[in-house]
Amino acid sequence: MSALENTPVTIIGAGVAGLTAACALAQRGAEVTVLERAGALREVGAGLQISPNAVRVLAALGLWERFRAISVASKRVELRDSVGRQVARLDLARHRPKDHFRMVHRARLVAMLEQAAREAGVRIELDHEVGDLPEVPLLIGADGVKSRVRPALNGAEAPFFTGQTAWRALIPAEADAPGVAQVFMGPGRHLVSYPLGAGLRNIVAVVERPDWHDEGWSLPGDPADLRAAFARFGGPVPDWLAQVESVGIWGLFRHPVAAHWQDGRRALIGDAAHPTLPFMAQGAVMAIEDAWVLAACLDSDADQARALARFQALRQPRCQQIVDAANANARNYHLRGPTRAVAHAGLRAVSRMAPTRLIERFAWLYDYDPTAV
Ligand SMILES: Cc1cc2nc3c(=O)[nH]c(=O)nc-3n(C[C@H](O)[C@H](O)[C@H](O)COP(=O)(O)OP(=O)(O)OC[C@H]3O[C@@H](n4cnc5c(N)ncnc54)[C@H](O)[C@@H]3O)c2cc1C
Repeated sequence: MSALENTPVTIIGAGVAGLTAACALAQRGAEVTVLERAGALREVGAGLQISPNAVRVLAALGLWERFRAISVASKRVELRDSVGRQVARLDLARHRPKDHFRMVHRARLVAMLEQAAREAGVRIELDHEVGDLPEVPLLIGADGVKSRVRPALNGAEAPFFTGQTAWRALIPAEADAPGVAQVFMGPGRHLVSYPLGAGLRNIVAVVERPDWHDEGWSLPGDPADLRAAFARFGGPVPDWLAQVESVGIWGLFRHPVAAHWQDGRRALIGDAAHPTLPFMAQGAVMAIEDAWVLAACLDSDADQARALARFQALRQPRCQQIVDAANANARNYHLRGPTRAVAHAGLRAVSRMAPTRLIERFAWLYDYDPTAV
């Protein structure tokens, strides 16, 4: 019998982490309640790239067909310079044909997970902002970067501003938009764009600038500032930016991966445990991995404290590795002057002569199967 059968679990936060954990725990027999401060699970955050390491979890939850229907296949990733010339490409469809790399609107993913959670018997209490943490036998903090559960386990911590500010926008996708994620790299700035399905194209644009913005995702910015910051970019970028009508802006902060993920009674998952810079496109992916591994650990060991300790031991080193890789990418995308010329020439050569080498460098990331650990 599952160690989770009829076990009450309270989750704070109905984002990707909280809802995936709710599904995984409820499917194993737990009685799950999710407390979410928002009045409705509406759009926050726009587009997400979801790599095979997370798709394996969605499939194990029985959600592959639904996920496929709401997402778009990512055939390749193209790295381009600021005027649009190709520097390198990762041919995902060609070199990893069995793996699913997908692109999806966050709102559609959240809606899918919410429906699956409710079908598994999860109670979701919207409009329920948690102030003081409830005294319950098992509390999961899936409450994002400004978590209340994290300081209860780790004390107060101060993230530091990276000197980078990001804009995020949605525009209509061209009818024949190929399933390609493109990164345009210029000195001190880069822009990522990909189609999301449902007729939409996602744009994330990052610049280095010393003045900083709040860390929240939904501060409104001015599309004119975005266009001015990328005025020297070429290729499709000017056309895309001309279509931007509204834009969100926020500062990118670096947080350490939490030292303490659990205390035997409370545990952290997702951004609450390991907020990351977006440069590996793995924040939501790690949240999905966490959710499965947490449920599997609790399911296979009736000793909750031991199960939670095992969960942290399995997840912390991997998340640290991913967060470190995202920090390194932040530098690589924004190179200037001679360093940039040398790095781009090297990438061009590798991409041309050994096209599988770039993708093989990420085998540790994409080959990981959370359902097998
Ligand atoms: C520019 C950008 C691009 C990104 N691109 C990608 C990508 O391509 N691929 C990818 O995998 N990830 C990406 N991410 C990261 C990803 O969006 C996050 O890592 C992920 O959404 C985190 O999910 P979460 O559930 O942990 O947190 P959140 O989504 O922040 O959810 C936390 C939830 O908790 C609720 N909550 C918080 N406090 C309380 C409280 N006190 N009481 C009740 N409820 C509360 C919130 O309302 C929210 O619903 C990107 C992030 C950014 C900023």
